[in-house]
Amino acid sequence: MSTPHPAIRVTGLRKAYGKKLVLDGIDLEVPAGTIFALLGPNGAGKTTTVQILSTLIDADAGDIRIDGRDPARDPDAVRDAIGVTGQFSAVDNLLTGEENLKLMADLRHLDRAAGRRRVAELLDRFDLVEAARKPVVTYSGGMRRRLDLAMTLVGSPRVIFLDEPTSGLDPRSRRTMWQVIRDLVGGGVTIFLTTQYLEEADQLADRIALLDHGRLVAEGTPDELKRRIPGGHVQLRFTDPTGLDLAARMFGDGSRDDDALTLRIPNDGRVRSLRTLLGRLDDASIEVEELSVHTPDLDDVFLTLTGQPHKERATVR
Ligand code: ADP
Repeated sequence: MSTPHPAIRVTGLRKAYGKKLVLDGIDLEVPAGTIFALLGPNGAGKTTTVQILSTLIDADAGDIRIDGRDPARDPDAVRDAIGVTGQFSAVDNLLTGEENLKLMADLRHLDRAAGRRRVAELLDRFDLVEAARKPVVTYSGGMRRRLDLAMTLVGSPRVIFLDEPTSGLDPRSRRTMWQVIRDLVGGGVTIFLTTQYLEEADQLADRIALLDHGRLVAEGTPDELKRRIPGGHVQLRFTDPTGLDLAARMFGDGSRDDDALTLRIPNDGRVRSLRTLLGRLDDASIEVEELSVHTPDLDDVFLTLTGQPHKERATVR
């Protein structure tokens, strides 16, 4: 099915709280059937963006189309087309998973039989059959997130907003969630996710936008963003200044740190080039204390583009 319009189109989006400018003119376009990641540190404006795009709050300025509709003029049509999970989720902790889903089926006006079928199907798909009759308060973080997402799928949304879908999850639950998200897109929906995890955006997104203090500082595919930064390198640490001197003379293009006794050398990190590098050091009898390989990641992108390291580093490799 082809859609004539992008799933999300935003131009000149602005929002201030009092004197605090939170979004300072954002432009975005997300093609249907793709995953878009809005990446940024805490306080960048990610949640505010999702709240505006999903009709929860109004923008001060800007033009927005979600699935072709304007949330300011036609909020009901937008709400019909979208699903939202995250910090303001509708999950009720005192109800069971099944009850939560049934409630959502009622809210979405599914008839009884269709509602029951949909609930059973979602419990199965999100691996919640065993926990279905237990109150959500007993669920693990990962189970809660899966239920949250299942609830948004009751209404068969075409665009899904996931606000920090894996924050606080352990690596295994995070991976499970990633797979769930990938499967959704396989089914044709569009996903707009916000994340503080560089790794997550890299793993999932077709396109990434970096948000910093309410402005987009970069936008592109993960590969495009990586190409905008210096390439990979290896860092060598020597046992004494003589080793550092000799190596620096041999690899003239490296950058050295005399205090730390280290030398950085541009290198793609492949086994073949590492072997060549080590072979040259060996031939010259230069002893290396430690070698670390650094391939560029989105953290480097952030550092290069904003001049600040990303505070919350990705914890999953
Ligand atoms: P993120 O999701 O990227 O962490 P938010 O969109 O939650 O960022 O917040 C962006 C900025 O807007 C923050 O400085 C936050 O304190 C401020 N902010 C968010 N909501 C409100 C509000 N209701 N009133 C005042 N300031 C707010």
